[in-house]
Amino acid sequence: MVTVYFILPCYNEEEVLPETSKRLLQKFLSLAEKNYISAESRIIFVDDGSKDSTWKIIEKLHNKNDIFGGLKLTGNCGHQNALLAGLLTFKDNADAFISLDADLQDDIDAVDEMIRRFTEGNDIVYGVRKSRARDTFFKKTTALAFYKLMRFMGVDLVYNHADYRLMSKRALNDFAGYKEVNLFLRGIIPLLGYKSCVVLYERHERFAGESKYPLKKMFAFAVQGITSFSIKPIRLITFIGFSVFFLSLMILLYVLSIKYIAGVAVSGWASMILSIWMLGGLQLLTTGVIGEYIAKTYLETKRRPRFAIEKSLNKAGKT
Ligand code: UDP
Ligand code: MG
Repeated sequence: MVTVYFILPCYNEEEVLPETSKRLLQKFLSLAEKNYISAESRIIFVDDGSKDSTWKIIEKLHNKNDIFGGLKLTGNCGHQNALLAGLLTFKDNADAFISLDADLQDDIDAVDEMIRRFTEGNDIVYGVRKSRARDTFFKKTTALAFYKLMRFMGVDLVYNHADYRLMSKRALNDFAGYKEVNLFLRGIIPLLGYKSCVVLYERHERFAGESKYPLKKMFAFAVQGITSFSIKPIRLITFIGFSVFFLSLMILLYVLSIKYIAGVAVSGWASMILSIWMLGGLQLLTTGVIGEYIAKTYLETKRRPRFAIEKSLNKAGKT
């Protein structure tokens, strides 16, 4: 029988936690009944510096039932870091770890299949959405553009997989060696190279509360994904710079030839102004991209801890 830890990052989730815990407990008990998971298994909620009563609810759940555990971070470290905190804190407690969102948008009935695939010898089981039919048009197109862009940038992502996945203890312990501060989990996990497979599931609407990923966070997440994995943007800039320089040499030749050979003076004000603005814009953009990488290097060299734990609740568990 396998010991499984469910890890759920929660940020201001007081509206969903009572229902989420109820559904998860049901799932947990049915898995235990079928002897899929051991009695030492746990459901861990990681409070990512919530400002509402999230932590109080977690404490209450924990006091009522040992199955529930909690981890309270000192402040809002972001979804990826909260998940990381949960995984790393309990990395020696279980045989397998399943990460999922607190709003249970990802169908928990896929868990049975995930555990089955794990016992068949897969170290990583990716939860993959069957379709995006329920997404808004905006979300659908931006998500597709994101995956396409990532592929173009050379980052190998599992299509339509977010952070709903199962990881074995040894995969997680290998992953613990990846110390980067700029974290993009779904990009790193495939790099571990373990045997993996995919389990399809249906993604639902959030049943309460609102998304904690506004457009701004989503954009930051996409930039993070690209810049922490790929140096292609910098290469692209070098290439653009080279091409523009080459082009300007050609234009110089052209200008000289019509002036001295044909004897015509060019009175192209519009084209000149245009090129000044275009080049200015390109230069700013490229400086910005390079700056982004320098900033990243700066953040990485500081090697600051990625999260800080204020409290940990896990009865009968080792941590
Ligand atoms: N979350 C978090 N910290 C944050 C933002 C989000 O721990 O700073 C958690 C949130 O509580 C949820 C998960 O990350 O469990 C996914 O967030 P959400 O459901 O709001 O994102 P969406 O499904 O809308 O992309
Ligand atoms: Mg959600």
